[in-house]
Amino acid sequence: LDREEPNYFGAGPAQLPTSVLQQAAKDLINYKDLGLGVGEISHRSKDATEVIDNSKAHLRKLLNVPETHEVFYMQGGGTTGFSSLASNLAAAYVGRTGEAAPGGYLVTGSWSQKAEEEAKRLRLATEVIMDARKAPGAEGKFGAIPDEAQWASRIAGKKFSYVYLCENETVHGVEWPALPQCLVDREDIEIVADLSSDILSREVDISQYGVIMAGAQKNIGLAGLTLYIIKKSILEDIKKAEADDAKLAALGIPVTPIAFSYPTVVKNNSAYNTIPIFTLHIMDLVFQNLLKQGGVAHQQQVNEQKARVLYGALDAHPEFYNLPVDKGCRSKMNVVFTLKKEGLDEKFLSGAAALKLTGLKGHRSVGGFRASIYNAVSLESVQKLADYVAAFAKEN
Ligand code: PLP
Repeated sequence: LDREEPNYFGAGPAQLPTSVLQQAAKDLINYKDLGLGVGEISHRSKDATEVIDNSKAHLRKLLNVPETHEVFYMQGGGTTGFSSLASNLAAAYVGRTGEAAPGGYLVTGSWSQKAEEEAKRLRLATEVIMDARKAPGAEGKFGAIPDEAQWASRIAGKKFSYVYLCENETVHGVEWPALPQCLVDREDIEIVADLSSDILSREVDISQYGVIMAGAQKNIGLAGLTLYIIKKSILEDIKKAEADDAKLAALGIPVTPIAFSYPTVVKNNSAYNTIPIFTLHIMDLVFQNLLKQGGVAHQQQVNEQKARVLYGALDAHPEFYNLPVDKGCRSKMNVVFTLKKEGLDEKFLSGAAALKLTGLKGHRSVGGFRASIYNAVSLESVQKLADYVAAFAKEN
């Protein structure tokens, strides 16, 4: 059960720590000497419940999750989050206020765009508060986050059932440096955030969020599970709303499928239906590994250094590399770049592959290159890539 340490920069599914996978491989065959693998035991057994409870406790410790918030897991990935967040949060607002209000969206890349489109597809009212492509100078492209002074007036005095943002746009390499203050200041607005590609990469203040959603397959595990952290009062609001179905129907709020109803999932400790325990076990092993290595604060320092090294190497050759993302919102997880000279893309990739640097091709909608430097990608791997970036520019 060994492998050479990968230098894999794929955007997701992503590289995981080898030690985590080695432990998981053993546990897949024979978990705690039960004579059965962790994926074969009942999801309601004592051992499975322990995996659920322990993983939640480890995550709470890593992120300092306050008592006001609950942690749970669902299947379906980030895309299911787009729909489940919209319908659960629309219902919550009805439970809280007795009326309906649109979901507000801050669109800074293709994932927040998709989230808004999905809410609309469910016939829920949405309002795009800010679309970064339409900001002055953006020329219809993602790559910058307009200053909040440009759009804060769009929320002033208005009601929203929630305001949604994607903290790190995996495709476009755009990351919110911090939550917008004009939202944090609005106690009546629940902030809903997609942290699929930056969870546990940096410290965050959980108390500022209504809901956090994060697919597992980048920083915290394998595809198959999505992590949620939700303010408990929102769960109570949804329950209140669901008790008056006629009202929800009259307000045009769709029924949430039962497996994605947040209060139902939480009441059943994330095992209302069969939870993939093997996938969750891997997530917990990632959490334990991170705790052992010094937690999120330490990981954040390493990630900042990795980003400095790679952006530094690219910035050092402005005649050769083009970095389309504004410096103020460059992602520390997904470094997007293109070559200024045409016809060298294949050569760049094959030269990298010869050095065992893989997973660098950009998203099909953006082109060029994308180096995803998630938590499990080591500083050594990033340094190798940075050295290659420098050498390739000089040679070409
Ligand atoms: N949100 C973000 C930020 C993502 O990067 C992705 C996928 O890459 C998704 C949502 C969609 O996740 P899934 O493919 O699990 O539905």
